[in-house]
Amino acid sequence: MTAPPHSLRNFVNGAFIDGAASFEKVSPVDGRLVATVHEADGEVVDRAVAAARQAHNGPWGRLNTAQRAAFLRRVADRIEERFEDLLVAEVADTGKPTALARELDVARAAANFRAFADVISTAGLDSYLTELPGGQRALNYALRKPLGVVAVIVPWNLPLLLLSWKVAPALACGNTVVVKPSEETPSSATLLAEIMNEAGAPAGVYNLVHGFGPGSAGELLTTHSDVDGITFTGESATGSAIMRAAAPRVRPVSFELGGKNAAVVFADADLERAVDGLERSVFTNTGQVCLCTERVYIERSVFHEVTAELVQRARSLRLGHPDDPATTTGPLISVKHREKVLSYYRLATEEGATCLVGGEVPALGGDLDRGAWVEPTLWSGADADSRVVREEIFGPAAALIPFDSEDEAVRLANDTTYGLAAAVWTRDLERGHRVAGRMRVGMSWINTWYLRDLRSPFGGVGMSGIGREGGEHSLHFYSEPTNVCVAL
Ligand code: NAD
Repeated sequence: MTAPPHSLRNFVNGAFIDGAASFEKVSPVDGRLVATVHEADGEVVDRAVAAARQAHNGPWGRLNTAQRAAFLRRVADRIEERFEDLLVAEVADTGKPTALARELDVARAAANFRAFADVISTAGLDSYLTELPGGQRALNYALRKPLGVVAVIVPWNLPLLLLSWKVAPALACGNTVVVKPSEETPSSATLLAEIMNEAGAPAGVYNLVHGFGPGSAGELLTTHSDVDGITFTGESATGSAIMRAAAPRVRPVSFELGGKNAAVVFADADLERAVDGLERSVFTNTGQVCLCTERVYIERSVFHEVTAELVQRARSLRLGHPDDPATTTGPLISVKHREKVLSYYRLATEEGATCLVGGEVPALGGDLDRGAWVEPTLWSGADADSRVVREEIFGPAAALIPFDSEDEAVRLANDTTYGLAAAVWTRDLERGHRVAGRMRVGMSWINTWYLRDLRSPFGGVGMSGIGREGGEHSLHFYSEPTNVCVAL
């Protein structure tokens, strides 16, 4: 299922257009060329924002909620019709196992559009009957208005899933969008542009600019004077830069940022279930999911048992070509990202941790040795202050750390500047609820991981983000309520 290299262009006002320069996107599997990508310069970004503004003031702005919901459902249908094209694109860019992309990425994109068609169709707003002591009465009700033109900037780890998670609610609320996918994953966002046309989007509703962050399309978009809001998923440091870019014009931002997520395993847990969950939460997508676990706190009485089993699981992962059904684990996104991950692998042992498994670049042979492969890795003995315990690695690696009491587990798990997600493994549900509630995070799981209801709030505290998306929570960012007060 290897697509031939092709040329990916920007999409502005319903048509594909060239950029002033281009860059090459290569496969993390074997380094082969995937696509030549047209990079948007200032002129292309200006045209994209102007097209979005025009569509917002024009045909798109005139649609009612039911018409927008119907459009989102057509996009979902079309995503399903072009499922295989999107799958090939996603796998070509990321190198992730095809089976994983089929289950995790593409299916969720269609689900995202349907979910927000439902949310916007049923969402209400406040109304109050006001009665003052003197007898005066009034009816207050709120109208939901779109922000206008929304810039959507997304990372490479779950490209289409995260893009559609933002585009769907933005359009549902009546905004138009200019999206900038990661330079590492330009393909599925480009196919989504075709799908928008096929689903009958008015020109300018969905615009796409390709490029990098600083000094390129990302910065041009976040500093643009006619963008009304910025929704961003990516690294915390990038979020900080985007916040500064948004500050002069006081534009709203929604941030889904990095994490250093903890799992806590109590001795009374169903240990087999916990280990199954930990294998997924540490190694899924080669550890490149913002929700992945990088710190595993294990009650001391079962520390050796759980550690030995997890090491076995790490050894049994199969690194290989995305199309091989035996493959469980793909490469990292790029050789550059591998440098970062390997620097943490070196640091862990320099800082005194013991590498229990992995820690190296695997020799897979043939073309794969030109890819961005790295071994799944576990450490014990890492100090609470060491950098591998404090900083996000975003690779298939975790530190395993013993604890002696519930309070100590909570204190260690919360000892981080991040605060995205946590997982608690225990058969004592009273304790499960108590510990989940004490976690300083946006999302806690008890005896599971990654299970999502698209209506529930998604986001993080601290360095992990600002705001919540998901269900009606997304509407809070992508629309502004306007109150109308009528004297009765
Ligand atoms: P990144 O921050 O490097 O890049 C994300 C996007 O921002 C890319 O499109 C990039 O080109 C753009 N960008 C970079 N600098 C910019 C700037 N100065 N101005 C405007 N745009 C800029 O992140 P990444 O490496 O692509 O993704 C990995 C990170 O994303 C990890 O930290 C991970 O935890 C995080 N993430 C978070 C969530 C979540 O929901 N909280 C989900 C997925 C990934």
